[in-house]
Amino acid sequence: MAVGEFELIQQYFHREAGGEGVVLGIGDDCALLQVPEGKQLAVSMDTLIADVHFPANADPGLIAERALRVNLSDLAAMGAEPLWFTLALSLPEADEHWLDSFSEGLFAAAHRYDCTLVGGDTTRGPLSITIQVHGALTPGKALLRGNASPGDRIFVTGKLGDGAAALAALEHRFEVQEEHVQYFADQYYRPTPRLKEGQRLKSFASAALDISDGLLADLGHICEQSLVGAEVAVECLPISEPLAFYGDQCPALDWALCGGDDYELCFTVPEKNLSSVKALISMGELVATEIGEIVSGSQVLCKNFGEVYEPPHSGYQHFEP
Ligand code: ADP
Ligand code: MG
Repeated sequence: MAVGEFELIQQYFHREAGGEGVVLGIGDDCALLQVPEGKQLAVSMDTLIADVHFPANADPGLIAERALRVNLSDLAAMGAEPLWFTLALSLPEADEHWLDSFSEGLFAAAHRYDCTLVGGDTTRGPLSITIQVHGALTPGKALLRGNASPGDRIFVTGKLGDGAAALAALEHRFEVQEEHVQYFADQYYRPTPRLKEGQRLKSFASAALDISDGLLADLGHICEQSLVGAEVAVECLPISEPLAFYGDQCPALDWALCGGDDYELCFTVPEKNLSSVKALISMGELVATEIGEIVSGSQVLCKNFGEVYEPPHSGYQHFEP
C-alpha cells in the first residue's frame, strides 16, 4: 500500500471529532456512543461489492455517496433519524487519489444527512464497502413491514424506474441523450434517502420499506410479513419526466415494477389515515403517489387499466431460489 494502514485511517477517515452522542469516536478499540434519552437504536448494514453493486472503475466519491445513502435509506424506511455509522473498507491497494475522492464523497453525504463516522475496519482485498448505520427511534414508532391490512392503500414516494434506467445507461444497454446523462447518473449514485418522508409517515402508515430490489419484490416482502396480497395499478406508477421522454424506446413500466435501485419508500395507509396523507401530498409536504391497494390472499397482482398485467420478472435476488 502506498500509505500505511494507520496513516490511511488518520488521513482519510479520522477527520472530525464530535457528533451527537459520540463520547469517543475513531481511534480506540471501540467507539463509545450514548443513545439519546428515551430512544431505541435502529441498526442496519449493507455491503457494496465492486462490479456487483457498482462498476469497479466508478468515481470513488460517487461510490462512497451511494454506499452511505443506500444505508441511510434503510433508516428512512424504519422512520429512524440518522446518528452514526461505521465503515469496513476492503481495498486492493491504498491509492491516495482514490481515497481522497472516496472520503470527500463519504463526508459530503455524512454532513448532508447529519450522520457521524465513528469507526470501522480497513483491510486489503477485493474492493468492497460495508457500512453500518445507527439511527434513533421512539420506542413503538418504527415503520414495520408486517402491519399492512386489506383495504390499506399503497403509496410510493418520488418516481420509480430511474434506478434501473440509470444502471442500464451506465452499462450502455440504454442510450440516453446528452442532456439526461447527469440526471440518470445522479439517480444511481446519489439516491435520496427518504428520511423526512419516513419521519412524516410514522403517524400514518401501517407498513413501509425502501425499494431496493424492485417495487414488486419489495411490496412482496410487506405482503409476506403482513399475510396479505396486493393489487398494483400500473397506470398509476410515477415515472420521471426524463424517463417518460423515452416513451416506447425503453421498458419504463417494467423498470418501475421490477428494476431495483430506486430507494423510494413503499408504504401502506389505512382508510382512517388516508385523508391526512392525501392532505400532506396536496400541500406539497410529501411527494408520493397512490399506486394500489392491499387485498386478502398472498399474491401481488398487477393491473393495467383493470386488465391483468404480467410483468417480466419480479426483482433482483443474489441467490436464485
Ligand atoms: P483494531 O486493530 O483494534 O481493529 P484498527 O487498527 O482496525 O483497530 O482501527 C483503529 C481505529 O480506527 C478504530 O477506532 C477503528 O474503528 C478505526 N477505523 C479503522 N478503519 C476505519 C475506517 N475505514 N473508517 C473509520 N474508522 C476506521
Ligand atoms: Mg480492526
